[in-house]
Amino acid sequence: MSRKVTFSIIIPMYNEEAVIQETYRRLKKVMSAAGQPYELLFVNDGSKDRSAGIIAEYGYWDETVKLIDFSRNFGHQIAITAGMDYASGDAVIIIDADLQDPPELILQMIDQWREGYEVVYATRSKRKGESKFKLWSAAAFYRILRASTEIDIPVDTGDFRLMDRKVVDQMKRLPENNRFVRGLVSWVGFRQTSIMYDRDERLAGETKYPLRRMIKLCLDGITSFSYKPLKLAGYMGAALSGIGFVFLLYVLYLAAFTHSTMKGWPSLMGILLIFNGFILLMLGILGEYVGRIYDETKGRPLYIVRDMQGFAAGAGGAAGTVAEQPPLPRAGGGQL
Ligand code: UDP
Ligand code: MG
Repeated sequence: MSRKVTFSIIIPMYNEEAVIQETYRRLKKVMSAAGQPYELLFVNDGSKDRSAGIIAEYGYWDETVKLIDFSRNFGHQIAITAGMDYASGDAVIIIDADLQDPPELILQMIDQWREGYEVVYATRSKRKGESKFKLWSAAAFYRILRASTEIDIPVDTGDFRLMDRKVVDQMKRLPENNRFVRGLVSWVGFRQTSIMYDRDERLAGETKYPLRRMIKLCLDGITSFSYKPLKLAGYMGAALSGIGFVFLLYVLYLAAFTHSTMKGWPSLMGILLIFNGFILLMLGILGEYVGRIYDETKGRPLYIVRDMQGFAAGAGGAAGTVAEQPPLPRAGGGQL
């Protein structure tokens, strides 16, 4: 039987063999200072390197180490979701494996949690060692998201945060496929507070978020929490037909009261291109939403676990049976 733990640390990892040992060491140090039972829940998101092997080895002699090994790469947001599904602590902390989020900050989060906050998120006041483009695009992303959604998603805040058990239990009821976890945490509410920190440079290895994945995350964030892009066609349509009407009056005026003839082709071509471009753009936006609706209707599980290590049989539905997905409280939320 595993002991009851107070803190669960979720560490998603995708090809992090270069840093994972140091991450483990730093986390051990911090968590022993916290002075309460804890578990380090590593989620191996289909790494092709030795990340999982290293953690599995630690797990043989360190009973705080637990490993969930995905059958393939399902993505960062899904990995932390799986971590939440299996975490058993009274407070759950999500942290990146690359030490960009300083583990020492966890102690401050715990202090805030003890004061009664149910979510403590870490907002980046500075980001070191990241490209100009990444900084600029991330800043733009958080602001666009904020402008387009009704719920209050904090800017410049990643997934590095502490959540109370109550919050995690509610998060487990949200079944959506294209997940934007930090938005969902805002959506569930509860007493939330932030602490500021300087985001460090990645210790080693390279970012697992290339532009393509950043765009996907951005679209997931916006489409999960806003219909505004869909309304864009309506607003633009109204504005353009207004402009068209005024333009028509002008053409009529020229024809009736002056001798000037309008040369049509270039302006016609320009307007055609603009309109066709806009229509295709709107189709693309529609496609983003329709694709996500399609994902939901398929009802596939969010992830598939190949192997688990360190979980006691029967604990939290996370028994060693891996061929069959353990029962999760998703879809209906019966167990809550
Ligand atoms: N990650 C993951 N699955 C992925 C991509 C990333 O589990 O498909 C993990 C990665 O190992 C790291 C965290 O998510 O622990 C954040 O990724 P990364 O540091 O590459 O993102 P960045 O900090 O550059 O935005
Ligand atoms: Mg990183």
